[in-house]
Amino acid sequence: MINAMNRRKFLKLGAITAPLLTVKNSVAGSLQTTTKPIVISTWDSGMPVNEAAWKILAAKGRALDAVEAGAMHIEDQVDCCVGLGGYPDRDGIVTLDSCIMDEHANCGAVAGIERIKHPVSVARKVMEKTPHVILVGAGAQQFAVENGFTLESAGLSESSKNAYTEWLKNSEYTPVINIERKKQNGPFAPKFFEDGSANHDTMGLVAMDIHGNLSGAVTTSGMAFKLHGRVGDSPIIGAGLFVDNEIGAATSSGTGEEVIRICGTHLVVEFMRQGYSPEMACKKAVQRIVNRDTEKAKTLQVGFLAMNKKGQYGAYAIQKGFVF
Ligand code: ASP
Repeated sequence: MINAMNRRKFLKLGAITAPLLTVKNSVAGSLQTTTKPIVISTWDSGMPVNEAAWKILAAKGRALDAVEAGAMHIEDQVDCCVGLGGYPDRDGIVTLDSCIMDEHANCGAVAGIERIKHPVSVARKVMEKTPHVILVGAGAQQFAVENGFTLESAGLSESSKNAYTEWLKNSEYTPVINIERKKQNGPFAPKFFEDGSANHDTMGLVAMDIHGNLSGAVTTSGMAFKLHGRVGDSPIIGAGLFVDNEIGAATSSGTGEEVIRICGTHLVVEFMRQGYSPEMACKKAVQRIVNRDTEKAKTLQVGFLAMNKKGQYGAYAIQKGFVF
């Protein structure tokens, strides 16, 4: 999905009407040249996320503010995928991961934070108010509360409660298989790549503002029914998100362990530095994962999404069905 239009056009349309782009995993062709500002985000749930980000970009705001607003939008959805409404870990606790990075390579992250609605904003506070990059668990929560964030209830959303109850029947710990949202698929059941779609829903977005500056943010509840304490790629700078204002920015979704192993988004940005288009850079990073263990790669999904300094964008995923 992409939003890139000049202000006049934006005012005329009054709303985002951009199409959702499906990534054909094995076919090149999503190279685009566009004008700034621009915002792209992972998955179809990124449509309203882009709208929230676009309000800031269209008003000549900073990309950093735009990506934070976009991530906050999805974190606000009570019965959706990545925030407190997301699926819990195997102990029934929702733990959230998030990071943010700006055009000056300033970055902040929180991992395994509980009962805080907007981990992306806590990540931004870590970036702006501390000499550190990552805060985890109880320390991250303590920092959030000290900085005025409300401690929300520990309860699960309705669909998460149902999903967890169902999962407990077998308690199968299958970290490579995420679970598709019940509301999209009827009765809760592990589903994997039937119909070519992927079962991941981490929200990653990157934006370039009118001044040509890049920023990115990621927010997620991580892999469903993960081990308590498990941290994926999403809050790790260079894995779930990387921004280099001279070159471009990238984000990822999918099995975080595989992304961490190759420093995925840093790798994508480095491929763009070598002159590869965003899509080719994503493809080469995906190939790195596939080449390491081709058999294993058949059982998992990882998708990268990237934008370069010219505003060209592209994506590539191991399996079909990754949309942005
Ligand atoms: N990348 C996320 C993680 O490993 C999961 C996802 O994208 O759904 O935590």
